[in-house]
Amino acid sequence: MPLTELNLAAYSRIVILTGAGISVASGIRPFRGPNGVWNEISADQLNAEAGQNNPGFIWQTLGAMRKVVASAAPNAAHQALADLEQNLTPSQQFTLITQNIDGLHQRAGSQNVVELHGSLLETRCSNSACDAPVFADQATHADQMPQCSVCHAHQLPNVVLFEEPIPLDASWQSKKALRDCDLFLAIGTSGTVQPAASFVRSADYVGAHTILINLEAPSEPNPYFHEVIVGAAEEILPTLLK
Ligand SMILES: [Zn+2]
Repeated sequence: MPLTELNLAAYSRIVILTGAGISVASGIRPFRGPNGVWNEISADQLNAEAGQNNPGFIWQTLGAMRKVVASAAPNAAHQALADLEQNLTPSQQFTLITQNIDGLHQRAGSQNVVELHGSLLETRCSNSACDAPVFADQATHADQMPQCSVCHAHQLPNVVLFEEPIPLDASWQSKKALRDCDLFLAIGTSGTVQPAASFVRSADYVGAHTILINLEAPSEPNPYFHEVIVGAAEEILPTLLK
């Protein structure tokens, strides 16, 4: 079936969830899959405990990713979502929830972005009891880790590590958007792992139309997705969201 554009005017509360698949065409490696980062790094090297015990490893690993992200550019999929938001009428609401930490949505021009897993382009203190503010930062500090000016603990890129909870604010904003959405698109994610799996259930529950757009079809059918479009997001979205 040829791809036709969505009738966007029919929807007033649009929620998008994006995963790693949307950034692959920008040269950002996914975490999972054959070329995934997790083939080289185990989750327990990047969990909350490692953040306390071996922050140097995390700083170096994520610092290397910062370099990649700094030289990457948003692709046609990021752009299509930014254009969609820009062209909505004042009565239409739009929330873009992303699992990605690369900041490419904002660089494409998206405004209302909820970052579930934080951002590589910010730095925070590793001491959870410290209230030093998170700040924008792209430095890689290859040889030395920066220290917090308030408590002198190590600093880390502001990314949610394994076993760390989703930031409360991001979690709340996602739930708030999902609870009355009428269109939900999950893009570049398998749709079977969290949070995509529970997000689509919420969206279906409130009567939204739900679409999965991913390079691979889900391994098992997911009845909560009413439509599945298999293909590259950067090829599909410019047509679908025209
Ligand atoms: Zn601190």
